[in-house]
Amino acid sequence: MGTPILSRTCWFSGARAVGTVGWIKNFRKLAVVSIALAMANSPAAARQEPREGTPVTYSPELLLELKQIQQAALGSDYALRQLAVLTNKIGPRLSGSAQAQSAVEYVAGELRRLRLDVRLERVLAPHWVRGEEKAELVKFPGQVSGITQKIVLTTLGGSVATPPNGLTGEIVSVGSFEELNALGRARIEGKIVLFNCPFDQKMAAQGFGREAYRQIVPYRTGGASAAARQGAVAALVRSAGDSDYRLPHAGFMRYSTDAPQIPAAALTGEDAELIEGLSKEGPVRLHLTLTPQTLPDAESYNVVADLKGSEHPEQIVIVSGHLDSWDLGTGAIDDGAGVAMVLQTVRVLRDLNLHPKRTIRVIAWMSEEFGGIGGKAYARDHKGEASNHVAAIESDHGAGHPLGFSIKAKQTVRPILDPVSRVLQSSGAGLIGFTEDIETDISPLADAGVPCFGLWQDDRTYFNYHHTAADTLDKVVPEELAKNAAIMATLAYALANLAQPPPR
Ligand SMILES: [Zn+2]
Repeated sequence: MGTPILSRTCWFSGARAVGTVGWIKNFRKLAVVSIALAMANSPAAARQEPREGTPVTYSPELLLELKQIQQAALGSDYALRQLAVLTNKIGPRLSGSAQAQSAVEYVAGELRRLRLDVRLERVLAPHWVRGEEKAELVKFPGQVSGITQKIVLTTLGGSVATPPNGLTGEIVSVGSFEELNALGRARIEGKIVLFNCPFDQKMAAQGFGREAYRQIVPYRTGGASAAARQGAVAALVRSAGDSDYRLPHAGFMRYSTDAPQIPAAALTGEDAELIEGLSKEGPVRLHLTLTPQTLPDAESYNVVADLKGSEHPEQIVIVSGHLDSWDLGTGAIDDGAGVAMVLQTVRVLRDLNLHPKRTIRVIAWMSEEFGGIGGKAYARDHKGEASNHVAAIESDHGAGHPLGFSIKAKQTVRPILDPVSRVLQSSGAGLIGFTEDIETDISPLADAGVPCFGLWQDDRTYFNYHHTAADTLDKVVPEELAKNAAIMATLAYALANLAQPPPR
């Protein structure tokens, strides 16, 4: 596990040193990587950028408290037990569903049990239901008479339905929006467009899963409208994730106002390859039946709870994860794990009887998967208090082995948090990275100038399971979940107790 991390560190430093620009903008950890003390004399360390600002020291009391928090989280299975409730007992928590509401009630109850002041803040939750989803090739080169071939896919969230008995069309496979537009209406009208744009598994294997995902997710979100503009009757997109186990990856799509709304589904990488291969030999026709429904928005909630600050109760440090999930799996890595870390943060502070100087505000967000609805609602409803939000943390990238945390804020925030990274170094999580790509729910706060933080996890297997039926509790390694919770709790307490709020 150490090798890829080291190579990433060296590689970025080297890339910056030779001034490579352009492509590197796609990557998440753009800036300085704070390295383990043990590596201080390594060649990689020699290539680090000079640190800005003067070294910051914490009081011995604060450092001791941070270590106590870290150890308490590492030694506890509470987060895992919370995650087991969310996944195995409540189950899939699709926006607008009864299970999503059950998760609201469960988490609110647990926070009350931890003696927090809990509020439910209203969110209008999109309520889309999946229905039937099936597809088969009904004509293809070399077809055995009377035989069709099943295609494995899943309807994209927000998609409209096909006619009840389905639709049939020839598939045109394209590798990009440019290729689609070059073919134009003459070649696309009346057809089914397949965006066969593979998830870069090699990039993900190097620890850049998030970047690989970002490269192709525009086809999932915008492919249907792009295809409809050229007259297509349906859009298929190759799943935005690994394709080793013939699993379709669900996800959100949205329609533009300038194109007809056509049905859209994600098919497995394997099925995309199958169709691509057959298409090279001759026409391939697909019969597609999708019966989702968009129901009226549901009344739902962000669960918001305050652990009141002892000196600056009006100043807020958010710790958060999102309650809703996709419906194929049980939402363990996305994002039951994040909510479990948040609950653990509070439980540890209560158990240790520690009182943060600023308010630590827990938020379990609703409807992240349908466009970050809860995060946007919070930013809108609390607009007047943006300046009181001194920091916001969200974990929404699974529960893989954590390497540290990432920051979307001014570079001058980093030296202030070096003492935290030194504490976290003992569990292998001492890296600090800067990112432009912060978690969805807190990104409106980042846009308002609030310093924002994410957890930096090893995501080399995350996109095997992300938004699939295999996102289940067994994918979470208990010790790694505990390490993640330790970061969230330690970082939150430090931010809540800094002498000055982090610069913005
Ligand atoms: Zn998520």
